[in-house]
Amino acid sequence: MKVSRRDLLIGSAGVTAGLIFTPVPWKLLGDVSIWTQNWPWIPQPSQGPVETKQSVCTLCAAGCGLRVRMAEGWPVGVSGVGTNPVTKGALCPLGFGAHQLNWHPRRLHEVRHRGRTSSWDEAQGALEKACAEGPVAIVDGRPGRAASSVLEGFAAKHGGNYRVALSSESRALGPYAAWSGVAASRLGYDLENAQTVVSFGTPLLDGWGTPGRFTRMWSEKAAGASDPELRLIQIEAALSRTAARAWRWVAIREGSDAALAAGIARVLREERLVAAKGPLPQMSMEEAAAQSGLTGQAIRELAHTIAEKRPALVITPEANPAIAALNVLLGAVGAPGGIVVRNKKALEHIALEANSNSYRALVIDSSVPWDLVPRSNVEVFRFAAWDGGGNAGDWLLPAPGFLEELTDVPTAPTSATETYGIAMNLLAQPAETKSAAQLLGKIDSTLPDIEKLIHTRCEQLFQAKLGTIHAEQPVAVAKFESAKKLEERLRNGAVWIDDSRHANSVRCAMKEWPAATRVLPAADWGAAWEAPVLPALAEKLYKESNLRDAPARREA
Ligand code: SF4
Repeated sequence: MKVSRRDLLIGSAGVTAGLIFTPVPWKLLGDVSIWTQNWPWIPQPSQGPVETKQSVCTLCAAGCGLRVRMAEGWPVGVSGVGTNPVTKGALCPLGFGAHQLNWHPRRLHEVRHRGRTSSWDEAQGALEKACAEGPVAIVDGRPGRAASSVLEGFAAKHGGNYRVALSSESRALGPYAAWSGVAASRLGYDLENAQTVVSFGTPLLDGWGTPGRFTRMWSEKAAGASDPELRLIQIEAALSRTAARAWRWVAIREGSDAALAAGIARVLREERLVAAKGPLPQMSMEEAAAQSGLTGQAIRELAHTIAEKRPALVITPEANPAIAALNVLLGAVGAPGGIVVRNKKALEHIALEANSNSYRALVIDSSVPWDLVPRSNVEVFRFAAWDGGGNAGDWLLPAPGFLEELTDVPTAPTSATETYGIAMNLLAQPAETKSAAQLLGKIDSTLPDIEKLIHTRCEQLFQAKLGTIHAEQPVAVAKFESAKKLEERLRNGAVWIDDSRHANSVRCAMKEWPAATRVLPAADWGAAWEAPVLPALAEKLYKESNLRDAPARREA
């Protein structure tokens, strides 16, 4: 049986996240019959006391609140945390079955070098040699963690470069960063205050962003209403799940998004529906209509509808300047209900170069999605908890799995506010595993310790006295008597939210209307994906769910 990622997301009724940036490999699992044998690889815990721990899911950058049922010290069930103000109890299918992942047959248990069994000593020796011979790029999939500071610190001290593998959601904010000079890592979508969301093929109700955030908002503010408080206009060639549930679905020709954006921009400017001045697209209305398959009148009406109920926010699934420019026209950049600056201090991250041949070696952290296969001939040290198949690197280094590592969880990429959580190592880390930070720490013992970095961050939160700690009851940081108490609360699964509103204006200097660029369609992340490494429970949910739309409906 083939299971596409999109199928799985659909099967979960939309309570899903941007799994594209999960480190769990989503590639082929050759023998799918394994799923029909009662999953013998999952051990049965003996009878014993059951306790519940609260934590944060670390399988992707969304950082959903988790409740983990433990029997005899083993996780036997996972559910969402209703008091988490961001995810509000939602988890994606992967999260629901994540407690089974550590026993998955694709779990890595040994160091491998070009297909043969090796050892940590050999891997360390090879990495030390590489560092001595030339610059090494350390690639992080989830910047901003305490572990990221270790990776960054190592690169800085050893003549290397710290690079990030950004999610599509983070990349989509890139054009605003280029026009404003504000780093994309400081930007987020203020969905909560938008009144019209115009999605150019972004799967907002079908797996985008943090689970529970947009889907809950949509069901509270809009579901079933003919003139809802929140309007979602889905512009997409196919009747996706998001398109089917949106307030309006605008069906256009495949690949004509930029042309339609140009047509909308013309109407907004020429009919003075927006105050903004600035460049106009060169494309005529006739051309926009011809390319998109809509009439000029339909484009005109669409522009009026977008301008009618504001704040209006345009969202694209990938970096697409020719569409993102609409947000500049609509005055949505740096404004409530638009693209907001959520953090004054975050640093700009440099993405891994498309061609990384100039490095002597690459060290790829386990937070980097398996699908990132560098286009280079250099030596690759790839950390991962699960083997996603294919040729992922010269060195395959077994990393800690689900809940086996203490880590902090910084703000999710699309969030409008800063958040911070701590995921405890509820399970002992297997002796045969090491994280990238642990191996680099063995090579250079002067690197900071993750535990100490987390203490420091909690101390800083305590000193700043801003925001609220959300557990069963929210408590203002200013009410905590010590940093230790605050950290304790976070270690028990609470989440810190910066609920102070920042009024950070952003000036976008767009000299000319951006040319249309070919952007990989969002469907790509689902289409080419077959049977993934899934926990058994997620597979069962998928098989037994009748929520999956008929293919004809999805591909209409
Ligand atoms: S439950 Fe949340 S954090 Fe965990 S993999 Fe799913 S979306 Fe990501």
